[in-house]
Amino acid sequence: MALLEIQGLSKHFGGLHVTADVDFTLDAGELHCLIGPNGAGKSTFFRLILGVVSPDRGKIVLAGKDITRLKPFQRVHEGMSVKFQVPGIFKTLSVSQNLQTALQHNCDADALAGKIAEMLDFLGLAAEARSPAGNLSHGQKQWLEIGMAVCLKPRLLLLDEPTAGMSPKETEATGELVKSLNAQGVTVLVVEHDMAFVRQVAQRVTVMHLGRIFAQGTVEEVMADSRVEAIYLGRSHA
Ligand code: ADP
Ligand code: MG
Repeated sequence: MALLEIQGLSKHFGGLHVTADVDFTLDAGELHCLIGPNGAGKSTFFRLILGVVSPDRGKIVLAGKDITRLKPFQRVHEGMSVKFQVPGIFKTLSVSQNLQTALQHNCDADALAGKIAEMLDFLGLAAEARSPAGNLSHGQKQWLEIGMAVCLKPRLLLLDEPTAGMSPKETEATGELVKSLNAQGVTVLVVEHDMAFVRQVAQRVTVMHLGRIFAQGTVEEVMADSRVEAIYLGRSHA
């Protein structure tokens, strides 16, 4: 069953068609990676899904409901949650308090402490529970933010370059975190440029190029496609 259905989505900035008539379907339960060279239009496509940028044309349907005209916060109510490239945590609050801000809206007061402890374990941050979030390592901050996005109990989690600035070890741990979220039933769409991460997690991959969907398939299929290699090497303007 399709969780997200996008039809004919288009957006231009001046003369530049950054999203050009894109059709895209994300199945419920999928862990899908969106890749493509710099400037391909990945972040803009993401912002259109989030509702931070409004399209010139096209339609976005989430779980059967047309959300094209909904504002970002209304999309969150429909089950969309996001973690941006830049951490949005509260640096002076402790790790636990950060989770509390995200959990308190959909959790009873008496269940809150248990939920926070559960999430700390899941994120591997139990030892840092009382530390100010600003003292966490770069990777830990990213995990906390993914955790906060997950606290909203999303149907669809959007991650824009979650491993940016991470070491290979942190990147791998992030992959495991994202896979276990997906195993719990969260549908995930990740924009990612780290191909080791994509190989580790992706069930399906979409390649964007010049605002269009250029290729789609399993990691193996996409990696074996010489046209995909060519756009990364800057040899194609198709
Ligand atoms: P990616 O995330 O794949 O690197 P982006 O969606 O960030 O690609 O950008 C695609 C193209 O759209 C780039 O050429 C970028 O300069 C342009 N672009 C993105 N946002 C804007 C904007 N708000 N105004 C003008 N041009 C933009
Ligand atoms: Mg981008």
